[in-house]
Amino acid sequence: MQRQLNGTAERATLEGGHPLGWQAAAIGEYQQSLSVRIADLRAQLAARILALTGRQISSEEIYADGSLAVAGVDDLTFRLHNHSLILVRTCTYCSTGQVESSKISSLSDLGYALSAWSPLHEDCEDYSAEDLADF
Ligand SMILES: [Zn+2]
Repeated sequence: MQRQLNGTAERATLEGGHPLGWQAAAIGEYQQSLSVRIADLRAQLAARILALTGRQISSEEIYADGSLAVAGVDDLTFRLHNHSLILVRTCTYCSTGQVESSKISSLSDLGYALSAWSPLHEDCEDYSAEDLADF
């Protein structure tokens, strides 16, 4: 039994020594599609920011991975995730963290996220409700 297991392990190692063309091809394909996706996300976020704010953001200023793009504009942070543009602000109550706005699809949505919207952590929401009750 032991001998048989060793034999299997040895064969696997030998096979592993062969150049794994199909794996290299798959990884190459993934990396290529990833760089296309990242370039696409950067272009999309830059276009959305330009349309809403008039600010030109170069793609070097945009962080992106395969599913998310992030850019800073005048001390504000925008994120593009699943084709949704989102504004990120710190929590109104504790002044820390990153709270995501609802989806921004128009200038009016952005105006709301910049003014009427109070970004709050879920935990901070209860405390701030008590504060508001004093008004
Ligand atoms: Zn908070």
